[in-house]
Formats: sequence, C-alpha cells, structure tokens
Amino acid sequence: MPKPVIFTIDDDSSVLNSVERDLRAHYGQDYRILPIDSGGAALDYLKKLQQRNDTVALFLVDHRMPTMNGVEFLEQAIKAYPQAKRVLLTAYADTQAAIDSINEVRLDYYLMKPWHPPEERLYPILDELLEDWKIHVRLPYEGIRVVGTLWSLPSHQVKDFLTRHQIPYQWLDIEKDSNARQLVEGISAEISKLPIVFFPTGQSLIQPDLKELAEKVGLQTRAALPFYDIVVVGSGPAGLAAAVYGGSEGYRCLVIERAAPGGQAGSSPKIENYLGFPTGISGDDLTRRAVSQAKRFGVEILSAQEAKQVLVKDSYRIIQLSDGSEISCHALLVATGASFHTLKMPGAAELTGAGIYYGAAYTEAMNYKDQDVLVVGGANSAAQGALYLSQFARQVRVLIRGPQPTASKYLIDAMEENKKIEMLSNTDLMEVKGRNTLEQITVKNTISNETQTFDAAAMFVFIGVRPQSQLVADLVKRDEKGYILTGLNLIVDKKPPQGWTLERDPLLLETSIPGIFAAGDVRFGTSHRVASAVGEGAIAFALMKEYLKTL
Ligand SMILES: Cc1cc2nc3c(=O)[nH]c(=O)nc-3n(C[C@H](O)[C@H](O)[C@H](O)COP(=O)(O)OP(=O)(O)OC[C@H]3O[C@@H](n4cnc5c(N)ncnc54)[C@H](O)[C@@H]3O)c2cc1C
Repeated sequence: MPKPVIFTIDDDSSVLNSVERDLRAHYGQDYRILPIDSGGAALDYLKKLQQRNDTVALFLVDHRMPTMNGVEFLEQAIKAYPQAKRVLLTAYADTQAAIDSINEVRLDYYLMKPWHPPEERLYPILDELLEDWKIHVRLPYEGIRVVGTLWSLPSHQVKDFLTRHQIPYQWLDIEKDSNARQLVEGISAEISKLPIVFFPTGQSLIQPDLKELAEKVGLQTRAALPFYDIVVVGSGPAGLAAAVYGGSEGYRCLVIERAAPGGQAGSSPKIENYLGFPTGISGDDLTRRAVSQAKRFGVEILSAQEAKQVLVKDSYRIIQLSDGSEISCHALLVATGASFHTLKMPGAAELTGAGIYYGAAYTEAMNYKDQDVLVVGGANSAAQGALYLSQFARQVRVLIRGPQPTASKYLIDAMEENKKIEMLSNTDLMEVKGRNTLEQITVKNTISNETQTFDAAAMFVFIGVRPQSQLVADLVKRDEKGYILTGLNLIVDKKPPQGWTLERDPLLLETSIPGIFAAGDVRFGTSHRVASAVGEGAIAFALMKEYLKTL
C-alpha cells in the first residue's frame, strides 16, 4: 500500500520549501509529502493520484495565490478526495476569507503564518487531524478498477473476462459514482469509450480488446514453442481433462482458448451432478482446480486467442490463430464446445450487454438486486441461472417454450419451491423493447395465443446450443447442425469416410482427418454434461497417444 499523501501548495517557493522541510521532518516516514507551486498544477497531479487510486490525507494550502486561491483549490480538490483534511495557510489579512471557507469547503483548520516553531504551532494541530483521518478514512481498493456503465457490452465483456480468469477487480459505474465519472474524464475526452481499466501502477487501458487486457494482466497469449505434440483448442472440461492427462504423461501440450478457461461449465454457479462433489461445486472453482492441475504438469494455456482455421500438411496439423500466428502439432483435439444462440429479433443485438445477456448470470446477477429479471430457457443451465439470480433479484420469470422445463428433477423441484421464481410454460418470446437498456419484453402463450408484456431490467438467455466447429468447417465431416462426426459415426456401409487414407478405421473420437480428434459438446452424439466432456477429454488423450506412436 503506497503511503498516503500530504499536499502542500504555495506559490512562494521559500515558504513552500520551508513547509515541505517541516512536514518531511515530522511526517515523512508515514506520509508522502508533495509540494506544488500552484492550485492548477496540484489539480492536475490529483488526477494522476486518482488514476493510481492513491489516498490523500491532508491538503495544506496557502490561501493567497495568484490564479487560483486556496479556497478555490479546495473546492475542486475535495470533490476527488472528500475525506482528506483541509488546512488553509493564511496571513492575518485573510482571516475573514478563512472563516468564510469553514462552511464553504468544510475547512478543518486555518493556520496563521508564520507557523514556527512547528512543534508548538504546526505538528499538534496536524497530528490531531491526521489521527482523526486515520480513524475515519476508507482506504481505497488496491487492485484493478474497471470503470464503465452497466449498459455497455464492452464493459460487460471486460468484467466477464476478469471474473472468468478469477482476477479480482473493483467495478465502478459512472452513472452511480461521480468520482468514477471524474476518473474517466481525467483520462479520455470520449466518455462513450468505455470501460477504462485502471491498474495499480497508474496505467490504464481504454476499451481494451481481450487480448490486450490479457497481456496487461499477465496472462499467456503467445505460445512458447512453434511445435507441440498435442494441441487442444478450447479449455472447457473436455479440453482441460485432455490437457491434464497429456501434461501428466510428459507430452508437450498447448491449450488455446479464445476467451477464458472453463467453457460453459465455468459459467455455472453450481454444478451439483458432477461425481465427487455431493454439495455441488461452482464452475469457477472447478476451473481453477483444473487449470492449476494442468499448469502443474507443464501445460501451456493461451487466453484470448482464437483458433481460426486448421490446415493439414503431411503429419503436421497447423492451427492459424486470430493474431495471424501459426502453431503446429502432430495431434489436435477440437474441444470447442457449444454456445447459446443469439436472439435474432429487432433490437436484441443493440441491447446485448445492456440488459440482454447470454448465459452470463454469474457475472451480472448482483447488478440486478431487487429488480425484475427474466430467464429464457428450460434446460439445466437456465434453471441454474434462475436459481442463482433469485438470490439477488426481486422476481425471476422463466420463459419455457415447451409444456414443462427439461432441466433435471432436482433443479425443477428447487425452482418450484422458490417463491421468487415464476415459470411460464408454452411461452414464446415475441419482442424486446428499450431505448438504451432493456425495459420491457412481450411474450405469447402458444396455447391460448394471449400476449403479455412485462417490465424487465435484464434478460438472461440460455437457449439454442450451437456447436463451435467453424475452425474445421472445411476440413472434417460434420452433421447438418455443425456437430463434428467421429469414430463409428463416420462409417457408412462399413466404409470409412471419403478421402480417408489409412488402413485402419477412424478411432473412437477421431474425426474424418487422421490425427484430428474431437471431444465434448462440439462432438456429434455427446450428452452435454460436464462429466461426459471430462470423460471424452480423457479418452481423446489416450487415443492421441496411440496415434502419436504410429508417426
Ligand atoms: C450455465 C451452464 C450450467 C451448466 N450446468 C451443468 C451442470 O450442472 N452439470 C452438467 O453436467 N453440465 C452442465 N452444463 C453443461 C456443461 O457445462 C457442458 O456440457 C460442458 O461445459 C461442455 O464442455 P466442453 O469442454 O465440451 O465445451 P465448453 O464448456 O463449451 O468449452 C469450450 C471452450 O472452447 C472455447 N472455444 C470455442 N471455439 C474456440 C476457438 N475457435 N478457439 C479457441 N477457443 C475456442 C470456448 O471459449 C470455451 O471456453 C452447464 C452449461 C451451462 C452453460
């Protein structure tokens, strides 16, 4: 924690030097003494201190200064540091101004010049003020601060990225916090370019992309080697399971993740049906454990790097990344999972991140305390989202297209018992409305054809899971929905797929290209569960090991 600051401001350099000397002698050990020769320069410096989140304990300011007098300076300065003690240094002639300012800027004291000897006329007064400051001050947050607005997609993405990487941060909303707004104005003329991420070093990033942010917070975004035995694309449960086995058996193993480790499971507030965790485990806890396990075995995990395309050259499988770089390997596992459909109705795209969220209940739930929210979907993920949101929201309406939810029984029971949750079956979402933020939605009952409009501060969408298989779309065989076909699913009339050159058939989780495997939610025939993904990841590694032996 940096030392709190004592500011002393005077345009007369001999007085300034003398005050500085006295302050340094008595307070230098515990406080940083900052002498400045004008109010304007001091205000500029205050902006820097705010950006670094430093604390100011005391302003000791001369009143009679040419461009900005002491009271005028304090008027501005206390907006940034309302808790700092304020002392005005005055000449006898300025006594009335000092008395007037007691109310104006809630002056704590005015000191008459000269203040010597300081042991009698300066230190006892400042000691008392600083003691009082220490008792009442709320020390600032020392970590990363994200300043933005709740109604912006980039702000949501940055928060989600940091949360998913389990990097602590403080969220400051410029619409609720005038200091936060000031902080933004001190950095950027474009108040619309949010969020701004402030680091404890005093540096900041304006609306960073995820790769820039990842690099700044020290995450690995570039591979250390040009070639690996095994590359895994996707760090959900399937990818991480394969990586743990690959690393533990000494293979050079790299995981490429476009967002943050954990995949869909990482966004689950509580996974209650995964073996070995009778009271459930949160997705971020499971992810943290799996990531440290993989890293312990020497696996590299790249964050905020998207695998765009895969090429095949002889025995090499080459992965092209979004930053234009390439990595090659002998065995590749596609464990890119699935993601939710985005709503196609008018207005939905504009309101994404401004009240409409896709499966992100975990990150945003607390912002909707005591408000009415909606959940769209009836499967396990939607039910978990609804139950988690009900801890904060006033009411959670769950829109279910079918006659009843398809979630597991224990989740349906929990929703039925929860007084804050109302399930609306046979219900279709018709319209979303809101100027800058989501305000209302209209739904239709598909049996009665009746429509209803609800006020809603936020809507969390958990429908229409789509496999994320675009990176191999032109390379491996997929079904019409995009799920990757593997093993027996590739055999038609006892024949391997067209173009298959090996004498053996594709292995259980091998795709139509030898050496490229698929596991988890992206694979045709999987069961969309954490345990299945982990199991398939483990099997995929065993098969890749067999494959590598043949090269
Ligand atoms: C909210 C929620 C709650 C759930 N709760 C449960 C539960 O309680 N129990 C249960 O058994 N199951 C649950 N599930 C389902 C379970 O999480 C999934 O079945 C499981 O996560 C699938 O794992 P996966 O590794 O195959 O894919 P995913 O978890 O989808 O992970 C895929 C990863 O690949 C990354 N990726 C995608 N494309 C690329 C690319 N081109 N380049 C780089 N990276 C890429 C993604 O960013 C993602 O991190 C839940 C799902 C959700 C959404």
